Amino acid sequence: MPEVVLTCDWTMMSNHHGKEFLGFGTTTPAYILPEQVYQRLFFPMMEVDASGFPREAPYGMRKVEAALMDAGIDARIVHPSHLHRYMPGEAKILMVSGHDYFGLNPPSSTFGGVMHREPLNCVNFKRLLTQPCVLDARAQGMKLIAGGPCAWQLSPATQMKLPWVGEFVASLGGFDSVVEGEADVYVRDLVRKALADEFLPPHVVLSAKEAPKVEQIATIRYPSVNGLVEIGRGCCRGCSFCSVTTRPTRWYPLDKIEQELKVNTKSGIRKGLLHSDDVYFYGSPNVMPREDKLLPLLKLAKRYYDQVGWSHVAVASLMTKPKLLSQCAEILNDDKQDWFGVEVGVETGSPRMITAAMPGKVAPFKASQWPELVVQAAGLMNDNHVYPACTFIVGLPQETEDDVLKTIELIDNLWDFKAILVPMFFVPLGHLKNKDWMRRDRMSPVQQELFRRALTHGIRQSKVLLRDFFEWEGQHTTAYRGAFRGFIGFLEALSRINGLWSEPTHPRKDIVDPMRYPDRLPIPTIPMRD
Ligand code: SF4
Repeated sequence: MPEVVLTCDWTMMSNHHGKEFLGFGTTTPAYILPEQVYQRLFFPMMEVDASGFPREAPYGMRKVEAALMDAGIDARIVHPSHLHRYMPGEAKILMVSGHDYFGLNPPSSTFGGVMHREPLNCVNFKRLLTQPCVLDARAQGMKLIAGGPCAWQLSPATQMKLPWVGEFVASLGGFDSVVEGEADVYVRDLVRKALADEFLPPHVVLSAKEAPKVEQIATIRYPSVNGLVEIGRGCCRGCSFCSVTTRPTRWYPLDKIEQELKVNTKSGIRKGLLHSDDVYFYGSPNVMPREDKLLPLLKLAKRYYDQVGWSHVAVASLMTKPKLLSQCAEILNDDKQDWFGVEVGVETGSPRMITAAMPGKVAPFKASQWPELVVQAAGLMNDNHVYPACTFIVGLPQETEDDVLKTIELIDNLWDFKAILVPMFFVPLGHLKNKDWMRRDRMSPVQQELFRRALTHGIRQSKVLLRDFFEWEGQHTTAYRGAFRGFIGFLEALSRINGLWSEPTHPRKDIVDPMRYPDRLPIPTIPMRD
């Protein structure tokens, strides 16, 4: 029985019906409909074994679990509904992780801010830690440690800026230790000290220099949610608002990736995601993709999984070697899968903003080429049956009204692409962590129009994607598709009633109709910077 229990809230301990993208639904508040409806749609309960251990768990937590087990520490991930089996009593330490504890990250802060309600991830995180078994165990001395990508939300600075966060933390008797950064190595000593009742640093920020080397990163021992396996860490593009960029780039060798693919397939998982901040760059030391590295990786993944998706890819990477995407699609799309999804950070339609806040994002092209690069990359992806979720940032500190208008123009130019466009409020992270959050009451009329346009695009394209691409296994297909169709219809009705429906007056049909121009991108159409 574990003396160190790792857990997260119910919104994260779910496989989102096997569709990672549906996890976005946990970042909205329960609006009008009861929370159970959202739970059924976006974060169905994860199966557990007789001990309350989940069948699949978030990948990052599996890494920490493996690191502790490798160090001989009795640690396991436990489903949040089964914590009472281990506390109060056996568990000496409770370790929590999360993507967004208090709904402060994009897109939670956007949905929560626009709807003036706490997003589901925040509601569930608070519910997790206020369960009687957790509070009783805390009263009896169980230690509480937090980490994960949103550990910054528990920093003294955030608690001072947002007193309601501080009050919640205080109601738990505080955290014994909070760790920001890549803790693969650090966590072993921290937990040993906690078990030995030694002093724990209340808040630790691990620097890029302390980032573990590839060989120091543990291999997961149990299956990850949706078969996700990491292929590398870090990003060299240097966007000012991003915390990933502060870490060194490291790629895992194929044998390390294969070990984790085996762990997942052994438990029956047959589809999964390759995760890095730019899958197209796998194995590259710079911003030029390496087909000699990437293609073997995809072939390896396809040997284990029937269906393979990518977590992220960058527009500029795709356009640097557009033909390579066709080679990737040839490997991945077969009789078992006919498309794959990926998240793409578009962020802006303004070349001026690219120069001001994210000059590396466009390398090796010029900032002035950005809007056209995005449209061409969208066409390239759709032509190869890749359907992206594109994020946009609204309210970056340097943003002007003209920048927002250019982003709206870009959205109009993407109007008929099969993609989901997700506008998100600026959140102070990375090199901009001392700036202020974007908020609903600060939105200009033009920024509001951008949200309306993206929402309308999203609802339109969700219908197309639902019809053409979302398959659910077995008898539930019709029921789930019907439920999601109903939910999208509900959103459309709400948008129209509240005046949020906004269509472009001049979409670029001539350029953006992928059916009419299926071969328009055999080679890069935009010259690279010399
Ligand atoms: S390209 Fe993406 S991951 Fe890389 S620094 Fe920019 S926002 Fe971060």
